[in-house]
Amino acid sequence: MDLGIKGKRALVCAASKGLGRGCAMALAEAGVDLVINARGAEALEATATELRGFGVNVLAVAGDITSEEGRAAVLAAAGAVDILVTNAGGPPPGIWSDWERADFIKALDANMLTPIALMKALLPGMIANGWGRVVNITSQSVKSPIPQLGLSNAARAGLTGYVGGTARQVAPFGVVINNLLPGIHATDRAVSLDAGVVNARGITMAEAQAERSATIPARRYGTAEEFGATCAFMCSQYAGYMIGQNILLDGGAMNATM
Ligand code: NAP
Repeated sequence: MDLGIKGKRALVCAASKGLGRGCAMALAEAGVDLVINARGAEALEATATELRGFGVNVLAVAGDITSEEGRAAVLAAAGAVDILVTNAGGPPPGIWSDWERADFIKALDANMLTPIALMKALLPGMIANGWGRVVNITSQSVKSPIPQLGLSNAARAGLTGYVGGTARQVAPFGVVINNLLPGIHATDRAVSLDAGVVNARGITMAEAQAERSATIPARRYGTAEEFGATCAFMCSQYAGYMIGQNILLDGGAMNATM
């Protein structure tokens, strides 16, 4: 399927590995030129090299997207873009009584205020062009809270509220904003979450993964490829009537009719 976005230019944040990388791969396959970011330069360059294999232009900008300096460097290098995929690492797990104000501020900065700052910087150019796409990678925790990820539940809920209103304010200008909500996917993040279970319960990684898979109707973890393909569709010309939605990819884990 031709997604109709060949030759567009995208910024994909936190894209050297995992879900961000999956999104960058799918966009490259659709013919989109890319600016990609992550903190570690080595993995980022390796991903950039792979992406260039699709015949698209790729600029890799190393830096912490959740810091003001990192964000400024990425935005300066990126210039105007047609497509923005926001992403960053998720907050650490814990229990409600662990988290102090400083922990919340850090989570809000990374998973709410960073995507908002990126949208504020890039939406004016999209509006001026009369075309734009934004996909925010959030989490299933927006629809179904994950108790040990209270910082994530809180920050991503805040972003979701902002997007709900903003998506409707920019839609008249041909700019489409939606959120993509991963349930468990086979990435480093999942390994680190499962490692917590392994340590707490003294079981093996394989046992922890099998236990988790058994709770998912699809009986497996999602893949970055599946996730990326959905993201690319949400960035396509066919997504123009999808406004302010929260698209859940969780293998059916959340038991809800809607
Ligand atoms: P991952 O496999 O750990 O990959 C994270 C990527 O983001 C890496 O490329 C990492 O590179 C980059 N990154 C992390 N922090 C960054 C920062 N501050 N600035 C720039 N780049 C940064 O994680 P993932 O599974 O793809 O998860 C992506 C997001 O989805 C996270 O917010 C996660 O909480 C959320 N999520 C994931 C799952 C899942 O099952 N995988 C489920 C629900 C939600 P560097 O470390 O080099 O910066």
